[in-house]
Amino acid sequence: MLLVSEPVLGADERAALAAVIDSGWVTMGDRVHEFEQVFARMHGADESIAVGSCTAALHLILHALGIGPGDEVLVPSLTFVATANAVLYVGARPVFVDVDSTAVPLMSLDDAKAKCTSRTKAVILVHFAGYLADREDWQAFARSKDLHLVEDAAHAPGLPAVGTFGEAAAFSFYGNKNMTTAEGGAIITRSRALSDMIRRARSHGMTSNTRQRLASRSPDYDVTMLGFNYRMDELRAAVGLVQLRKLPGWNDTRRHLSHYYRRLILEFCPSVMVPFDASWLSAHHIFPIVVPKAADRQSLIDQLREAGVQTTVHYPPVHRLTFYSDLYPSTPLPNTEDFAQRELTLPLHPGMTPADVEHVVHSLAVALGAPLLTSAVA
Ligand SMILES: *Cc1c(COP(=O)(O)O)cnc(C)c1O
Repeated sequence: MLLVSEPVLGADERAALAAVIDSGWVTMGDRVHEFEQVFARMHGADESIAVGSCTAALHLILHALGIGPGDEVLVPSLTFVATANAVLYVGARPVFVDVDSTAVPLMSLDDAKAKCTSRTKAVILVHFAGYLADREDWQAFARSKDLHLVEDAAHAPGLPAVGTFGEAAAFSFYGNKNMTTAEGGAIITRSRALSDMIRRARSHGMTSNTRQRLASRSPDYDVTMLGFNYRMDELRAAVGLVQLRKLPGWNDTRRHLSHYYRRLILEFCPSVMVPFDASWLSAHHIFPIVVPKAADRQSLIDQLREAGVQTTVHYPPVHRLTFYSDLYPSTPLPNTEDFAQRELTLPLHPGMTPADVEHVVHSLAVALGAPLLTSAVA
């Protein structure tokens, strides 16, 4: 079965893990520090903060920005549930914003303006599928309304522009992301005050860590705030350092495969719409398509599965999940709902070849009932 996503892990990662085990130091040491530096450099930042997950990263950012009860945060509904959950963790209210259109399924600036109130404190942008939101537009909006701008960059690691939009950006290294540490995340912020606060909150609000106490004469520490345990460990950082070296090449492969998909779909599945366009700046995390209104999506999923092709849906909209629709009933987001009903995510990962793309498009064309085209693609 050709999977929607698949981590690339091998001998280099195995060797890196063995070296950590042999070193005898397993958490928050030199490798975490080095990982933070290399990750920051890749995004043109002075520093980054490694954490246990992107969810932890989002929580730490909102916590450090002082967002809390009574505040509202604008978020897309077309995202993974963690984006909205982080807002609830700090006691604030996520306000769901529609996407622009089926062709550009990124958070709509117009709808964000319409939903901005005196209680709105921040906006979380999601670079859906890896396609970057418009930086200038969102910065101007955030400035004019005095809002904190936060990036959920789980889909877009490795692009220098990512992490430069606003106060801070959160990244994910979960197993199905562009690079992985199994579980893991990172934060980029260019604010010193924010990074000091986040570093302390990451580890129980303590003024020093185990490594620093080893290096100093004083075993003493203080706790200056209510913190969390959102640390990254040396094993993950060691795998992350290997993956970081490979990320630019993998993102190139993703781009080539995406462009090939676009060309073949335009030619052989003309009723299918591919969001964005080939020139849109992207880390190509996933490859979403929009099937025709008349098509039966479940039947396409079944037929592709028969042909050995896994597909998924990104995303069931967060505002329609039971937990959220119970909390906030009647949140109409027509563009998000239309997109989510017709979206299908095709396999995209750096282990794929152009022949795999041909097989997927061929199978899709057959499933859509375009038998005349089959021999042409095959
Ligand atoms: C994967 C993902 C997250 C959560 O990442 P974790 O590292 O699993 O916590 C958050 N937001 C988006 C958009 C994601 O795709």
